[in-house]
Amino acid sequence: MQAFEYANPTTVADAVKALAVQGGSAAALAGGTDLVSLMKDSVETPKRLVNLKSLKELQGISYDAKKGLRIGAMVTLDELLGNSKVKQEYPSVVQAADGVKSPQIRNAGTVGGNLCQRPHCWYYRSGYGLLATQNGKSMVTEGDNRYHAIFGNSGPAYFVNSSSLAPALIALGAKVRIAGPQGNREVALAEFFRTPAKEGEKENVLGPNEIVADILVPPATRVRNATYEVRQREALDWPLAAAAVALEMDGKTVKSARIVLGHVAPVPWVAADAEKLLAGKTVSESLADQVGEAAVKAAKPLSRNGYKVRLARVAVKRAILRAAGMEV
Ligand SMILES: Cc1cc2nc3c(=O)[nH]c(=O)nc-3n(C[C@H](O)[C@H](O)[C@H](O)COP(=O)(O)OP(=O)(O)OC[C@H]3O[C@@H](n4cnc5c(N)ncnc54)[C@H](O)[C@@H]3O)c2cc1C
Repeated sequence: MQAFEYANPTTVADAVKALAVQGGSAAALAGGTDLVSLMKDSVETPKRLVNLKSLKELQGISYDAKKGLRIGAMVTLDELLGNSKVKQEYPSVVQAADGVKSPQIRNAGTVGGNLCQRPHCWYYRSGYGLLATQNGKSMVTEGDNRYHAIFGNSGPAYFVNSSSLAPALIALGAKVRIAGPQGNREVALAEFFRTPAKEGEKENVLGPNEIVADILVPPATRVRNATYEVRQREALDWPLAAAAVALEMDGKTVKSARIVLGHVAPVPWVAADAEKLLAGKTVSESLADQVGEAAVKAAKPLSRNGYKVRLARVAVKRAILRAAGMEV
């Protein structure tokens, strides 16, 4: 591992200052479960690590009936799983966090780190860059793309966003509060992720020296919500496809719906056309099936990942049924 400087600020303002490092890059260190392995493999080589663990402003979960939920970026996945309000009102978030099967990762890994974790594309992790091109050609389209994108993959990016929490939080209408040199700004989580157009661009909108401070989720009292993940194995791995659904209900009728797919595109993928099919209807198995089909209509699988289309379709169907309280 390349040597690095270490800063341990106690205020967000000092953390932002510490991220501004001359002649190199700095990285925010949360639980370190993703960043440290990338540093060990020399995929990430920050000149300075800025520890976020001493920042009290980034801790804690609170709930207000009018404003909703605030999750500090440094809240661990375990703390999220153990919070009674989150369990009661936001089951889709609990189901997504519960999918991270390692107790060690849940104990150390944070919500901010989960949203900002780097893609688990094996070309990127082997040091070929996020876009993995060689001699002007994509290594992904030419090579092994079993776990790559089936949406938003017209190039040059083919990786999938790795965050399991992001689809659930986006479906619930969450925002992130970002702290930076110019103060704080709020961004809808749906707008936080982006697909890089050239090597060197990141997969989110964080500017230089900015960090995620908290996540703000509106109240979900009348919103039935669920996540359904399809995994190769119930072990230390990421889902192959997942769907998060939030149904705003008027009695037994769906007033409006949000459907967000995970692990299928460089960004969490909003299935806007499929959402419309649910509005004004009562959920049934055949409706959920139709919506699942509509959600994957625009999928364009690569040479080796056609199987993910079916998995995504099933994930949408089952997330809808789960949200509606119908066993799957
Ligand atoms: C075996 C294994 C299985 C896993 N399975 C899953 C899974 O199924 N689903 C899933 O979603 N995740 C999964 N993960 C990923 C895990 O959830 C992440 O490693 C963890 O959430 C990252 O959190 P961290 O606090 O350790 O982040 P770190 O490793 O500290 O940071 C990760 C990245 O985010 C940046 N960062 C961290 N916090 C902030 C912040 N507040 N503001 C700005 N940038 C920040 C860092 O600079 C770094 O680039 C798995 C990980 C492992 C090792």
